[in-house]
Order: sequence, then structure tokens, then C-alpha cells
Amino acid sequence: MRILLLSDIHANLEALEACLAAAPEHDAVVNLGDVVGYGASPNEVIARSRALGGIFVRGNHDKACSGVSNMTDFNPIAGLAVLWSRTMLERGHLNWLRDLPQGPLKIEGIENVQFVHGSPADEDEYLLMLPDAQRLLDTNSPGVTFFGHTHVQGGFLAGRDDAAVIRPVYHSKRDAESFDFALDPACHYFINPGSVGQPRDGDWRAAFAVFDTEPWQVSYFRVPYDMETAQQRIRDADLPERLATRLAHGR
Ligand code: ZN
Repeated sequence: MRILLLSDIHANLEALEACLAAAPEHDAVVNLGDVVGYGASPNEVIARSRALGGIFVRGNHDKACSGVSNMTDFNPIAGLAVLWSRTMLERGHLNWLRDLPQGPLKIEGIENVQFVHGSPADEDEYLLMLPDAQRLLDTNSPGVTFFGHTHVQGGFLAGRDDAAVIRPVYHSKRDAESFDFALDPACHYFINPGSVGQPRDGDWRAAFAVFDTEPWQVSYFRVPYDMETAQQRIRDADLPERLATRLAHGR
């Protein structure tokens, strides 16, 4: 089974379309959350995501934009984008967003694989460093946890004896590229497909991944997209300028 993994689209329609155009054939779609927030196309991105179907895990921006949570943990710029999104979202999309389930979620028939937004212990927790993932070992059986939230493509091999940061290796920051990473079924992984719509790992290209259960392998992808249009939409919406400029830096 091949699973297309999308995360942190953040209302960036141009980035989402580029990922879908580049995605190889797959049997299922899993969305790891933050469909909206920051970007200027929340209704269009939700409509496209809903049409794709599949499994959705809610993100912190999905909760804030639909009023499930308040904005206490949001910086002022993120908070402005939340308030803007709340006023823009169509009623049906708002209700859909509000009802998204909390992770971890699983796919029936696929053992030892779970899907979360932040971490299995706390949906809002950031798994940024290797020790953050290793701390979860005692409460998790071996297998693969797919997570988002940090907007950093890669993840962690987080065994007791073998532990390492996983970062895909690419050759440019211009072209479409992919990086295959074989997983050992006996080991413990935390895998982040990266952010579709607002990467923060220094690479501006839209990020996603495909997980193949046979063989047990993750393929990471980076694809260029029409960033200028996404930026222009942010400016036209009078959202903070920083939300447009950061897309170019991948930060
Ligand atoms: Zn996010």
C-alpha cells in the first residue's frame, strides 16, 4: 500500500497543487493537519483536501481557525492570520474543520503505524530534536509515527541504541527532487513529510512524502511551485507581509 502524506498545507493552494501534480500513484491519502492558517486560500485548500478524501488529523491552526481552541500559544502574526481565516471560512468548511479528529490515528490493517500532528503524547508538542523523539520510546511500541507541526522534512530514527536525525539529501533548491529512505521494521521511527505550504527547513520548495508498506520505505519529495502567486494572494488579503516573505526563505 502506498500512502500519500500531506502536512501543514497552511492554506497555500499553489503549493498543494504542485504537490498533487508531482505525487506518484498512491492508494490512500493521510493529511497530518494544519490545512489552514498563515496562507490566503483557506476555502480553496479545504475544498481540494476534502475532495481528495482520506484520513485527517487536526492541527493546532485547524483548532484555532475553527474556534475549538483559543490563540494563547500563537505569536501575534499567527494570531492575525487565525482571525482573518475565521472571517473568511465558509460555514460548511468551518464545521468540517471543527470536527476533524485528534491524533494519534491508525489505518486498519497496517500494524505499527500511527499518524499525529505534533506527537503521540500531545497533539500540540513539537518534535524538533532527537531527544524529543527518544523520550517517547517508553510509551510507544516499535514502528513508525508520522508527524508534522515542525515544518521540517525528515524525522528521527529513535531506538535505544541506534538513534539519528533523518534529513533527506537533495542536490539543488530549484528542481523537483525525491529521496528514498528504507526503514527497518524492527526499528522505531518518527517521520515528518515536511510542510506543503510553509516549509521552515531552509528549502522553499513544497514538501510531501509517500510511505510504501511493501517494501517498508519512505520517499521524500520537494517540488517548486508558483510561490509568487501565493505571496500575491497574501498581500491582496492584507495579511502580514512577513507571511509572504518567509515563503521565499523557507523559514
Ligand atoms: Zn503548521
